[in-house]
Amino acid sequence: MYMNDNQKKRILFVTPPYHCGVVEVAGTWPPLSYVPLAAQAEKAGWEAEIYDAMSLRDDHEAIAKKLAATEFDVLAVGSITPTFPDASEVCRTAKEVKPDCVTVLGGVHPTFMADEVLTKEAHVDYVLAGEGELPMHDFLANFDDLTERHRTKNLIYRGAFGITANARYPLMENIDDLPMAWHLLDHDMYTYFVLPGSRLGAVSTSRGCNHTCTFCSQQKFWEQSWRGRAAASVVKEMVHLHEKYGTDVFLFTDEYPTKDAERWEEMLDLIIAADLNSYILMETRVEDIVRDEAILPKYRKAGIVHIYVGAEATDQETLDKINKEITIDDSRRAIDLIAEHDMISETSFVLGFPDETKESVAKTLKAAQEFSPDFGHFLAITPWPYAELWDEYYDHIEDFDYRNYNLIEPVIKPINMTRAEIDMAIITCYGKFYMPKMKEFMLVKSKFRREYLLRSTKLIMQSSFLVKKFARLGIDPRQAMRDVMGKS
Ligand code: SF4
Repeated sequence: MYMNDNQKKRILFVTPPYHCGVVEVAGTWPPLSYVPLAAQAEKAGWEAEIYDAMSLRDDHEAIAKKLAATEFDVLAVGSITPTFPDASEVCRTAKEVKPDCVTVLGGVHPTFMADEVLTKEAHVDYVLAGEGELPMHDFLANFDDLTERHRTKNLIYRGAFGITANARYPLMENIDDLPMAWHLLDHDMYTYFVLPGSRLGAVSTSRGCNHTCTFCSQQKFWEQSWRGRAAASVVKEMVHLHEKYGTDVFLFTDEYPTKDAERWEEMLDLIIAADLNSYILMETRVEDIVRDEAILPKYRKAGIVHIYVGAEATDQETLDKINKEITIDDSRRAIDLIAEHDMISETSFVLGFPDETKESVAKTLKAAQEFSPDFGHFLAITPWPYAELWDEYYDHIEDFDYRNYNLIEPVIKPINMTRAEIDMAIITCYGKFYMPKMKEFMLVKSKFRREYLLRSTKLIMQSSFLVKKFARLGIDPRQAMRDVMGKS
């Protein structure tokens, strides 16, 4: 058992080194979920370290060297479905280089798939399910007493009578005062490539979502509930990050920061008053943008420049099928309003449903072009193995490799199309959507919007997943972009 000079035990948090060529396109993103967990470890009297292998682009070989050279008693890894195989691999490596260490997995995938994880992955000792802060504290505080350790709420482990899932803590009522171990991040590492020289930080203003979109893992993880932090607590954290670490681009990581209109407007007012001279990237639902039409100037004044809205589909029937609870009119209006207020809109359109046909793909593309968000993503419908869609679509699933559950690789075979055809349809949609966009972006009057759009497009065209996909069509998207720019 490792003890440092202070006789403290050590926990090492590691990000799984998963790269599908999408999220890493626009920046290096701080592993926010580890920050409050590490603070709980410190509260329990442990020393904590966050090793962001993903942002460092360390592969498994580099991770093995780092783990061999680092002292730790517990290794903790968070994972979603596509990152799970790499998260598990990190645990395997930890056991190889430090056979006495204890490995813990948390996050959405292990929470819902704990039985499978603990049955198949012998190198994973524990799953900490659900909201992690309180269980993490208890687990570490009681670590030395195995009986007490095994009484930790939310813990799932191999017990004497098989896999045992302990009772859960209720979700915390107050998420305003959670301690945050910001000092454990190397803030220099995090930047948003679209705004060169920026220092990127991440803040969560709320947790959960009370909607029930059938494809979504977040609402399930947070038990269809939504909890907002007090506006003042969020802005205090932003000021701290700005003043202490120079953060000047904030990613709001929560799915639904605007849900409580009163809280949201108060937050905008406080951010404006704090005068942080920073940018904010966020996502929300289309109907809130429409609701907030009168206060959209405040969004921009607060620094919001980029809003992802989940349009998902361009016909009401599909929206209703996935229980999105929005209207096509609201989607269209939200996208227009975002542009009118000098902000960037981004949304996604989902393809590859079991009843998908070449005609329905063409219809989606046409409607996406008419909606005309600044950035559109064409995603493959992906049923998480614990979501409603899994059972519903099970007979159509052809690919069971979790690494491919990344919304890029089609894992479902529609009745009237092959997966290769869906893959090709995605590439074609990207090509047909972006080629005219590039010319359009060059003519945008607002200098900020124009430069932002062109830099982002360049990054998207360089993204490894698009380069790989376009290569199947014999096209180099970077060259295509140069051709368009050169001719205009
Ligand atoms: S609105 Fe967004 S976060 Fe909420 S359930 Fe739907 S997809 Fe998930």
